[in-house]
Amino acid sequence: MRVLRVALEVPVAKLFDYLVDDATRAGPGDRVVVPFGARERVGVVVEIGDDSTVANARLKQVTRVLDDAPRLSADWLEQMRFLSTYYQRPFGETVAGALPPRLRSLKPLPKKRKAAAGKSDAGAPAYVPGPAPNAAQAQAIGRIRAALGGFRTFLLHGITGSGKTEIYLRLIAEVIARAQQALVLVPEIGLTPQLESRFRQAFPGARVAVLHSALEDTPRTHAWLDAARGDAQIVLGTRLAVLTPLPRLGLVVVDEEHDPSFKQQEGLRYSGRDAAILRGKLAGCPVVLGTATPSLETWHNCRAGRYELLSLTERAVAGARLPAVRTVDLRVESADHGLAKSVIEAIRARLARGEQSLIFINRRGYAPVLSCEACGWAAGCARCSARLVLHAADRCLRCHHCGAQAAVPHACPTCGNVDLRPLGRGTQRIEETLNALFPDARVLRIDRDSARRRGELVRTLESIGRGEGDILVGTQLLAKGHDFPNLTLVCVLNADSALFSTDYRSAERLFATLAQVGGRSGRREQPGEVLVQTRYPGHPMFQALIRHDYAGFAEAQLAERESAGFPPFVHEAALRAEATKLAASMAFLNAAARLVPVPEGVQVYDPVAHVITRRAGYERAQLVVQSRSRPALQAFLAEWAAALPAAAPSGVRWHLDVDPIEFD
Ligand code: ADP
Ligand code: ZN
Ligand code: ZN
Repeated sequence: MRVLRVALEVPVAKLFDYLVDDATRAGPGDRVVVPFGARERVGVVVEIGDDSTVANARLKQVTRVLDDAPRLSADWLEQMRFLSTYYQRPFGETVAGALPPRLRSLKPLPKKRKAAAGKSDAGAPAYVPGPAPNAAQAQAIGRIRAALGGFRTFLLHGITGSGKTEIYLRLIAEVIARAQQALVLVPEIGLTPQLESRFRQAFPGARVAVLHSALEDTPRTHAWLDAARGDAQIVLGTRLAVLTPLPRLGLVVVDEEHDPSFKQQEGLRYSGRDAAILRGKLAGCPVVLGTATPSLETWHNCRAGRYELLSLTERAVAGARLPAVRTVDLRVESADHGLAKSVIEAIRARLARGEQSLIFINRRGYAPVLSCEACGWAAGCARCSARLVLHAADRCLRCHHCGAQAAVPHACPTCGNVDLRPLGRGTQRIEETLNALFPDARVLRIDRDSARRRGELVRTLESIGRGEGDILVGTQLLAKGHDFPNLTLVCVLNADSALFSTDYRSAERLFATLAQVGGRSGRREQPGEVLVQTRYPGHPMFQALIRHDYAGFAEAQLAERESAGFPPFVHEAALRAEATKLAASMAFLNAAARLVPVPEGVQVYDPVAHVITRRAGYERAQLVVQSRSRPALQAFLAEWAAALPAAAPSGVRWHLDVDPIEFD
């Protein structure tokens, strides 16, 4: 008999020992069915040994070894070990979270598909080359190609439309020719069907596996298996794709590396970008981080010489230029109904020329507040410390934090006044205004409410790409990598709110968002224009945006971060707690702060309540731990994470977030 040490999905940081007879072939990376408590579970063998600290008489036998999927490789287990340690999450939960649900269930896996790996066309050529690379592209391709076969991280810093995607495609062709696999991570695959079809067109004969969390169980399992068996030559997916076993990995691409959605906000709170770099290191292959607006962490790493910088400063299509960015000073020009006169005129000019305009406002709904002028009452959520948003389209009030929904009251619940007023503006109200101003124009609204279902959204985006719709009103959903050839004007409505946020990352995010949404315009010969309505036209962030000066903006931000002692100059973790009463959350955090000795070089700050303290009935607080030394912080976190579970009273939910990026 031998002993298998098995990782199981339980919230304790240990492995479980099981016996297996000598005849059964089982080793690290095998999935096994084992008895656990009253039922059976699927676990992953991590080690194999001859003895156990548990008396053999008390050990149970492995029920069976599963061989319906490839054995998980040593590399993959190593990646899991690193992530588990780094993000302070028990190994078993880390492993379980990385496997698609079907691979940890007792249900048998679906049968292997015949043509497998996503509609490959057997007779088709592997690669259909795009336009010949220009000098800057050729230079970047040359540098990265020379690095194939070894680990190296590149920052491909290229303005929107500079041909980054073309570079990825050329490199992937190279990787496929070497009989290796390419992993391409993108923020949101479902919203950018153009990207997927571009990959399929460039590689008609290749096997492409697409992976994201919105996939149904069966296609997700197939895609995962195609990747893990080494059948898929290209794996294109969101952050979770970085957790897929890839036996022949030859290149990792992280597109829009700055995008906050690469950070998982539950369970294993990993950064998909950072995990991608780890992946490249373990596989010994290059990692390409592509973006027009690098995260400040990445820019900092580049300056420090850890990543190699490759720059593309011009748009790839002949004649296409970056849009002219201008501010519209709201202190001088009033904005009736939310739109300044010069913005309205600019839209009118586009309509006359048959070009499209995009109105960007990052707030969905009709109005963010419904209030009573007589007594000052405002509709609030019963379960959150937040206002309810008026949704005129379906005549209701909705909480954007917990999803609660309420009917629009006929009168003020406090004073009986029947004249309730919507305050502020969201996409629906701007849509209404635009329809009134331009009755002959086709106004299309794109936000999470207009497109509840993914398929609907994709169809709308495609129709916009074909030139349908004269004026588009939308949120962030419209900013992501879409290519709308006929779009020449972008108007940004409510950017100011982010300028004075307490979150030190908000300027960085706003710059990235505006550069990205602005980048939707002028992608062909007609020049694009971006108008930003603001009360602060002199703000350095807007000035940098006007100059298209990412580097200047980044340097200024980094200087501020350094003097204020913020990341990337220090490393952070957050301990967050929630309970029905804030006092309970705070009490736990205060106790936690004194739970283990804090070593020199590590600071534990006082707990503070979240800005939106109550959410979905829970009152939340957090404390931040900082250190200039990553190892010192890691050592402290390891000790802390081991002690925290016993210190948490029932009724307090908590988690640790290493390298947090979200503080609300
Ligand atoms: P990015 O990913 O940087 O936004 P893309 O790779 O999508 O840029 O390229 C933007 C547009 O320019 C696309 O329509 C693409 O086909 C085109 N393009 C890319 N490289 C070239 C090139 N070398 N010559 C001509 N057009 C190009
Ligand atoms: Zn009232
Ligand atoms: Zn709520």
